Amino acid sequence: MRTYQIDENGYYGEFGGAYIPEILHRCVETLRENYLSILEDDSFRREYGRLLKDYVGRPSPLYFARRLSGHYGCKIYLKREDLNHTGAHKINNALGQALLAQRMGKTRIIAETGAGQHGVATATACALLGLECVVYMGKTDVERQHINVQKMEMLGARVVPVTSGNMTLKDATNEAIRDWCCHPADTYYIIGSTVGPHPYPDMVAKLQSIISKEIREQLKEHEGRDYPDYLIACVGGGSNAAGTIYHYLDDSRVKIVLAEAGGLGVLSGKTAATIQLGKKGIIHGARTYVIQNEDGQIEEPYSISAGLDYPGIGPMHANLAATHRAQVIAVNDDEALEAAFLLTRIEGIIPALESSHALGVLPKIQFRPEDIVVLTVSGRGDKDMETYIKAMNQ
Ligand SMILES: *Cc1c(COP(=O)(O)O)cnc(C)c1O
Repeated sequence: MRTYQIDENGYYGEFGGAYIPEILHRCVETLRENYLSILEDDSFRREYGRLLKDYVGRPSPLYFARRLSGHYGCKIYLKREDLNHTGAHKINNALGQALLAQRMGKTRIIAETGAGQHGVATATACALLGLECVVYMGKTDVERQHINVQKMEMLGARVVPVTSGNMTLKDATNEAIRDWCCHPADTYYIIGSTVGPHPYPDMVAKLQSIISKEIREQLKEHEGRDYPDYLIACVGGGSNAAGTIYHYLDDSRVKIVLAEAGGLGVLSGKTAATIQLGKKGIIHGARTYVIQNEDGQIEEPYSISAGLDYPGIGPMHANLAATHRAQVIAVNDDEALEAAFLLTRIEGIIPALESSHALGVLPKIQFRPEDIVVLTVSGRGDKDMETYIKAMNQ
């Protein structure tokens, strides 16, 4: 049978792999050799499971959105990752990797962050487990996302502003990789999404797969069957989407719809629509689609949502798009905002801007009344209030 899961060489179809500098080879190889046995180890699973329940607050509810369903003429369930500790799905991954790092004997954690959400999740996990934490963040982002910088510092992390390049996520990632090269013995690099060299995309997908595991059980309770007709999630690097679809990847009864950030429009030059515009290339150690110019230089992406403006996409998702297993829809800034206001007004849930992109595909699909749709609300909108208020006053 055809599978959309990773193969034994670390590829999803022609995407993935580990294209890394020689000096990182040992670190990545050690991780590759150990991650599966640690993730499957009984005592790891017990500790991780206990923390997901008592600390993160899982299982997150699968909420039947009655009024939203009425609006779109189908049955819509929202998977409420916004209710997790720290306000999004990212804690599932950060906590899992921090525990894994501890089991590999590492005492120092590094991470990259763009908007600061992954930095806060990582700093939180490190505070909980008593690990040293250094977070690399572009200087531009440090200035734009001041509250998250203060949160990380309050949690005990050291935030290092990166002044190379455009001083944003891509540059912070390069700096984190450089740090890892210099401190291979005691340091572990927690990547925040299903990106980077193998085994990261698979490891992050497995840590987030708690989402689809819960969806299966919760749908069974609500509907008497354990699969939906549609799964919908937004894609930056791809981790909340990977978690949402993980247990359904090879289930052809389930349609997968991914929302990427159209920005001001796919052809406007200000966009993060990697699948529509990207060409095959290599970014941060993986072969995938990348937004790049004719010389292969990576172009700066744009989206109203800081969590979606990554110039690449996870290799799993690149393969799902290339093989047409998933339908990928670009949702522009204004469409995401409209979807956010609708959800807020008729369900009383203020979503993160990233999640609003997932909601923004709902008016673009022709549903039948009996269709069961599960849409992941990846995070809450507190961090985006300034943007929402500005849009409201326009
Ligand atoms: C970071 C973030 C995303 C995008 O990251 P993925 O790895 O694609 O999930 C989406 N939603 C929220 C709330 C985020 O913080």
